[in-house]
Amino acid sequence: MEKIDILSLTLPELEMHVQEMGEKKFRAKQIFQWLHVKHANSFEDMSNISLELRTKLSEMFCIKQLNIERKLESSIDNTVKYLYRLSDGMFIETVLMEYNHGMSLCVSTQVGCKMGCKFCASTIAGFERNLLPSEILQQVYRTQSDTGKKISGIVLMGIGEPLDNYKNVMRFLELVSCPDGYGLSLRHVTLSTCGIVPKIKELADKKLGLTLSVSLHCPENDGRSEIMPVNRTYNVYELIEATREYIDKTGRRVTYEYAVIDGVNSDRENARKLATLIKGINCHVNLIPVNTVKEREYKSSRESAMKFMNMLTEMGINATVRRTLGSDIDAACGQLRREAEKQTEKSGEGY
Ligand code: SAH
Repeated sequence: MEKIDILSLTLPELEMHVQEMGEKKFRAKQIFQWLHVKHANSFEDMSNISLELRTKLSEMFCIKQLNIERKLESSIDNTVKYLYRLSDGMFIETVLMEYNHGMSLCVSTQVGCKMGCKFCASTIAGFERNLLPSEILQQVYRTQSDTGKKISGIVLMGIGEPLDNYKNVMRFLELVSCPDGYGLSLRHVTLSTCGIVPKIKELADKKLGLTLSVSLHCPENDGRSEIMPVNRTYNVYELIEATREYIDKTGRRVTYEYAVIDGVNSDRENARKLATLIKGINCHVNLIPVNTVKEREYKSSRESAMKFMNMLTEMGINATVRRTLGSDIDAACGQLRREAEKQTEKSGEGY
């Protein structure tokens, strides 16, 4: 019988299991705290639980582990990038960044991605599988244990499309914000999406209080479909409408991500179309000079992004250029995993 993934269980679910095992309900809370507060990686560590129950637990449940395959530390800022190996041998990336207000962690939600954005390294090798809630959580717990630094904010902006793994991501959010566990307020969480409209609407109805970040990257349909195939299913006007709805229902400001790519989406005409598209929406535009990915030819610079920002500001749009962190360790998502996979392919150790 396959063991149950205990880290993906909510407290009420764990209580049910524990009671079915003939134990008192309060034991579940103790176990939950070992997992989500003390970040125990084994049942043996749970010293206030009887040996007998610990043995029973280890027969029924497993604690999903992440192993540090590689760790790169920036010498420019305090950015740390982890390449984690999952229990089935696949790789994901997690990036820890230091801001004035604390440590923020960028987590992956899938192994690979099916969205096919042309400028993104995460999508090049295609999609493997969804991450389990426990595997998203362990990126937080493992990184915190390794660095000893409390993580005060999470951005779902690593490998994968969070709204394409909706169920597991929602469960992750429930677990990470549980007051008996890690207890992170969802006000400190940002979810980034390439624009899966029906899921944005579902998320709006949940009124979770998190920040929604929408990867826009182009203000009109033809150009956007060219670089982001998802636009052929949910076009840019439907996407903007869905974000308006999100703002109305949640009262939260939305962020539009815009990777500035020279010769593709960076001229005055694009700025004008973007300004018209989002005028009057309670939003902020986050400009990023596109990160060059080895397999792609897209290029940009901080200067181009600043120029585009000035055009938008003149047109009355609230925009900033995102600070680049960890530039010496290739902190853009998906690149380390690509390298690791190429190496496993070469050495014939493929899974
Ligand atoms: N799938 C989600 C989240 C993952 S990507 C999404 O699409 O939003 C996180 C952000 O990085 C997205 O805004 C994405 O478009 C952007 N991004 C991906 N590759 C990039 C690159 N090479 N340069 C700049 N931004 C990039």
